[in-house]
Amino acid sequence: MKKFLFILIFLISVNLIVLPQSRVTKSQLIFPDIDEYKTLKCDFHIHTVFSDGLVWPDFRVSEAIQDGLDAIAITDHIEYRPHKEFLTGDLNTSSSIAIKEAKYQNFIVIRGAEITRKMPPGHINAIFLNDVNPLETDDVVEAVKAAYEQGAFIFWNHPCWKAQQPDTVVWFNMHTELYTKGYIHGIELVNFSDFCPEAWKWGQEKNLTILSNSDIHGTTNTSEFVKHRPITLVFASELSENAIKDALFARRTLAYYNEKIYGEKQWLEKLFKNSLEIEKHNDPDIHRTFYEITNLTSVPIILEPQNTEIVKKRIIPEKIEVPPLTKVNFDIRYKNYSEQKVKFDVKTFIYDIDKYLEFELDVK
Ligand SMILES: [Zn+2]
Ligand SMILES: [Zn+2]
Repeated sequence: MKKFLFILIFLISVNLIVLPQSRVTKSQLIFPDIDEYKTLKCDFHIHTVFSDGLVWPDFRVSEAIQDGLDAIAITDHIEYRPHKEFLTGDLNTSSSIAIKEAKYQNFIVIRGAEITRKMPPGHINAIFLNDVNPLETDDVVEAVKAAYEQGAFIFWNHPCWKAQQPDTVVWFNMHTELYTKGYIHGIELVNFSDFCPEAWKWGQEKNLTILSNSDIHGTTNTSEFVKHRPITLVFASELSENAIKDALFARRTLAYYNEKIYGEKQWLEKLFKNSLEIEKHNDPDIHRTFYEITNLTSVPIILEPQNTEIVKKRIIPEKIEVPPLTKVNFDIRYKNYSEQKVKFDVKTFIYDIDKYLEFELDVK
C-alpha cells in the first residue's frame, strides 16, 4: 500500500514515468511474430569485394548475425567490378562463399545480383537466382528476363537516387515495359539512408512489394545509420529461403528505417497489436485510470492523442513515448471528460505519407 501511495503521489506531479528495463544493443533487435507468420529481419541488398564493396563475402554473414538479422541477399553489381583483376571466379562466386559460410553458422544467404545500368531503368536487383552468369548481357531487358526465367524476385533499387534522378523522380517508359512483362515485383522504399516517397506511391499503385535495404558497401558498424541498418521485415510461414520468397511475392513486408516502421496497414496493425502489453487500474474515487504500457519491440512506440483539447485540459499527456523494451506509466484524468475512449496516432507506425496507425485506450 505504501508503494502504491508513493507511485500515486509521483504520478500527480509528473504523470509520466519511464522505467528502463534494459539497454538495447544491435544484436537484440526484437519484433514479435504475428498470427501464423514469423517476423523475419532481412536485408536484400548487400555488396562485397566482388563488386565495389570493401569486405570479403563471409564477413557479411557474421555481420548480419551480429546485427540480429535472419537472412540476407548478396547482390554484387554485374557491370561494375573494380576489383575484378585481383579476383578469379564468376558472378556466382561471392554469393557461393557467403552461402557456404551461412551453412556453418545456420543462417540464410540468398543468391542475388544487381543489374547496374544508367537511367532508365537504373539499378535492378534480382534475388533467389540459381545462376547469375546469364544476366551478363548487353540488352538490359534481356538481363532482367534472364532473372525472371529463373523465378527470381526482382525489384527496382533506390529509385530516388540523386545521381540518377537529379531533379524529379520519374517512372520511365522502360519501367512500364518491364512491369507490364511481369519483370518487376518490388521497389526499395528505403536504400541506405534515403527514404523514397515516390517508391511508396508507385508501390501502392502497382502492387509492388516494399523493401528497406542497406546497400552496404563498407561495414554496418561504421556506417551512419540511426541505431540500425534499414531492414525489411518479412512475414514468413517459417524460417526458410522458400518461405521468404513466398512472402516477398505475396507482399508480406514492412520497412524498418530510422526507428520507424512503414508499410501496408494490415501488417502494421498485426505487428503493433503484438508489440504492446497493457495493464490498467481504474480508481473512481479520484477519477483516474492508471496505465502501464510495455513495449516488447526494438522500435520506440510514440503515442500522440488526436484530440489536442484533452491535452490542454491535462486529461492526458501530449505524448506518450515508450522506448524499446521499456515500461511507461501514465494516467488519464477523466473527471472533466465524458468520452469512453482516447484515440492516439502511433507516430512510429506509418502506413502512408503523414498517415499514422490509430490506437485507442479505454478511459475507464
Ligand atoms: Zn545501385
Ligand atoms: Zn547496390
